[in-house]
Amino acid sequence: MFDLNGDKHIPGAARVMQRCEQLAQYSSMSTGICRTYLTQEHQQCNATTQQWMQEAGMKSWIDGAGNCWGRYASANEDASSIILGSHLDTVPNAGKYDGILGVVAAIEVVDALHRNNVQLPFHIDVVGFGDEEGTRFGTTLLGSRAVAGQWQDSWFALQDKEGMSLSQAMESFGLKPEKVSTANRSGDKVAAYLELHIEQGPILEQEDLAVGVVTSIAGARRFNFTLEGMAGHAGTVPMNMRRDAMVTAALCIAQIEDVAKNSNVVATVGKLECSPGSVNVIAGKCQFSLDIRSGKDSDRDAAVKSIFEYIEQLCHDRDINFSYQEIHNAPAVECADWLQQLTAASIADYGLKPLSMMSGAGHDAMVFSGIYPMAMLFVRCKGGISHHPAEAITEADVAVALDVFLDMIMKFEKFYCSDS
Ligand SMILES: [Zn+2]
Repeated sequence: MFDLNGDKHIPGAARVMQRCEQLAQYSSMSTGICRTYLTQEHQQCNATTQQWMQEAGMKSWIDGAGNCWGRYASANEDASSIILGSHLDTVPNAGKYDGILGVVAAIEVVDALHRNNVQLPFHIDVVGFGDEEGTRFGTTLLGSRAVAGQWQDSWFALQDKEGMSLSQAMESFGLKPEKVSTANRSGDKVAAYLELHIEQGPILEQEDLAVGVVTSIAGARRFNFTLEGMAGHAGTVPMNMRRDAMVTAALCIAQIEDVAKNSNVVATVGKLECSPGSVNVIAGKCQFSLDIRSGKDSDRDAAVKSIFEYIEQLCHDRDINFSYQEIHNAPAVECADWLQQLTAASIADYGLKPLSMMSGAGHDAMVFSGIYPMAMLFVRCKGGISHHPAEAITEADVAVALDVFLDMIMKFEKFYCSDS
């Protein structure tokens, strides 16, 4: 493995840490980070990122959807690309590393290749997506879905909380809405999409490992349940004559936790509303949400089935009317087997145990499944905390991640050359 530290005498990992700090300054909040799609902060962030890309030997451009690209070109103009990507936008009051680390680390890896005059038989395209979190327009993955050819024209009418439409925001950013399709790269020759991202969970910390191999990105289903019984006087309705929606909901929620603990899913009831909501009235109606995820759709669907059977039986027994709406259903997405093996081999060659793990959170990578071979490398973050100012990583872990990420590209080259 060649030197990641280069001639500037700044260790790559230290520079990655500095650059994450620097991008954190492009924020609409004075005490915290918030950088959303097509804003002035997004523009500033893109400009700085483009400058770093150019310094790392890349040609850089902003695509029709506002994503920031850099290409470390192969001598063969017609070669395929590998895309190293993540996102540059944030949630409100965000941390410094979610998404950002993946872009900055990719630039650092290219910088190492460039400094060492490494010529590759494929282009390396680094991309910082403009929207993953969906903070501004309420729809997630706008940047990566434009690249994957999944842009929907109905999104132009989406409005931010000031009433500005997405198409207006594009114009003020200097983009032409009618040209958004130029961002579509789904028909390009892309040999792989690789994303480095903080774990956003506690497993690597628990296992005392700097990095991990992602097996799949969980598919989520979301439901709203409505239970209707009968409101009544808290003092006069005997206990055995009640149709209490709140108690029924409580039993359902406890059962959901029980099912999740005994199967390969995570399930969350994050919202509960009862009416009429008075201290001396039996709750006549109760609504609650369910978010259920698994790396395997079949495990998730089996858990959903078991939860529904319980709720239906319970509501029947307690004379409660039960209805529901399914408000979201996205399949789990698996990382390419051979790229998982390649990632694991790079981690093992570094001398660490290659731990395989599912991603419970969504990522840009998932939109590329089925279009390009896709894989992800997770980096340990403190306490598994993300979407919070306390989000933290260590320079030592970044050093490991850069080494492994670079090794993945060199292994990819061997694989690519033997294959083509
Ligand atoms: Zn992210």
